[in-house]
Amino acid sequence: MNDVVREVVQASGALAFAGLGDMVWGHASVRDPEGKGVWIKASGWGFEEIDASTVHLVSPDGAVLTGEGKRHLEFPIHTEIMARRTDVGCVVHTHAPALAAFASMDVELQPISHDAVPFTYPQLPRFTETGALIATRDLGRSLAETLGDAHGILMPNHGAVTVGPDAASAVMYAVLLERACRTQLLALAAGGPKVWSDEQETRFKRDQIWNPGQLGAGWEYLGRRAAQADVH
Ligand SMILES: [Zn+2]
Repeated sequence: MNDVVREVVQASGALAFAGLGDMVWGHASVRDPEGKGVWIKASGWGFEEIDASTVHLVSPDGAVLTGEGKRHLEFPIHTEIMARRTDVGCVVHTHAPALAAFASMDVELQPISHDAVPFTYPQLPRFTETGALIATRDLGRSLAETLGDAHGILMPNHGAVTVGPDAASAVMYAVLLERACRTQLLALAAGGPKVWSDEQETRFKRDQIWNPGQLGAGWEYLGRRAAQADVH
């Protein structure tokens, strides 16, 4: 198994362990070091089922260049974001329940927990062009444009996408976004949050709490727990 495939397998296992799966839907991709496209799981498999045999290389026009299996219809999410963002090495797309429920409320995410810190000040964007699949390159480009320089984007009536320089950060951002949305839903259900971090504190916490070392520690933890749980 080469390093890139291993990263996709580990990302998928971590997402499964963190509860971000949706049966066989949702995907994580890693940029091909030679610029041929993205390494991503094949369609028809759940995050917890992914091993080297279910990861393939997909080109920007949707051709499966290496490996086997049917490619996901939503591959343009990955290829078009990576085309626009040269700093991005990994893209995660999830239909996790809390972020989907939160996105439907059309309220701003507030930094009421550490988890929301990467997505506030500035507020993470929302993609409102469609709640259907991002199944064309044009929609992928539009999504990438709306994402801008953010760590993640909510897709109301669909899910979310998170990105990072590597799988550790992109996966952790997906996990943090789901938790941030769940925490705010909890607060909203109890009458709504009354206090949250201001911009200055949020920016401080971004470096203190979610620096690459901390993101890496969370990623390693998810990897260990996924292995213990026999999630690949
Ligand atoms: Zn989707």
